[in-house]
Amino acid sequence: MFCGTYNKVDMKPADYKSEVPVVWCPGCGHYGILNAIYRALAGAGVDPSQLICISGIGCSSRTPYFLHSYKMHTLHGRAGPVATGAQLARSDLTVMVLGGDGDGFSIGGGHMPHMARKNCNLTYVLFDNGIYGLTKGQYSPTSRPEMKAYTTPYGGPELPMNPLLYMLTYGATYVAQGFAGKPSVCADLIKGGLEHQGFAYINIYSQCPSFNSMDTVESYREMVEPIPKEHDVTDLGSAMALAYDSGRGRAPMGLLYQVSRPTLDERMEAIIQGVGGRADYDINRIIDQYRP
Ligand code: SF4
Ligand code: MG
Repeated sequence: MFCGTYNKVDMKPADYKSEVPVVWCPGCGHYGILNAIYRALAGAGVDPSQLICISGIGCSSRTPYFLHSYKMHTLHGRAGPVATGAQLARSDLTVMVLGGDGDGFSIGGGHMPHMARKNCNLTYVLFDNGIYGLTKGQYSPTSRPEMKAYTTPYGGPELPMNPLLYMLTYGATYVAQGFAGKPSVCADLIKGGLEHQGFAYINIYSQCPSFNSMDTVESYREMVEPIPKEHDVTDLGSAMALAYDSGRGRAPMGLLYQVSRPTLDERMEAIIQGVGGRADYDINRIIDQYRP
């Protein structure tokens, strides 16, 4: 049984709230995303006893604390490898990664392409606020070039990366984008990711009123454009064309891409069966075959 084919339960969004108080700043976009995650989990009927939420470090990486689920708060940037291992060890669980742009694309940037190309069977929700919030406002890989922050007092010198194009390039099989000010849209996109078999990446713009004065609710509202209904989500070229300008004055909102491809856990299981099944899967015997 794999993520996406779990036994569904009938629960309400409020049932996924933990007893831990939410501690983000007033006006933080992450509240909208958390609300969307509660709704998505209820919509997908995920059993909390079969759910594990994994994060690195950052404001958004606190999210697992606010969810009624199993959870791991790991090292900065290392949520992806931990989630990959957890999913391979327990393919019966639903695995989510919850974190920010600095955690995912700077410190953890080396892990992102590998989760995508391997088609790890998990759902990654990236809270993209273009800033490091928890450490009090440093320039991040998705910050706009002219952004002034503590580390860039005269404006940043770098071009921002494009998370959507990156994920499409490396083979993610579900790529979507939302905005925290549209929690219903985000809930549908996250629900789709939870129900998808394979690596689902959902990029969600989220305002940080404490440290990012450029990307406000109003500027995001002006920037996001719903993806046209006629868009073919199986067409990689069209998805890339939509993704290309994202963050440069406009941003597609909705599902860009979804295809079916064997997942890492499925391929690993096939290999295990190929060597005689789990009962005969003796790692020492396999290692011995390669000894000189
Ligand atoms: Fe949200 Fe920014 Fe406050 Fe962190 S610092 S909780 S991202 S508003
Ligand atoms: Mg951030």
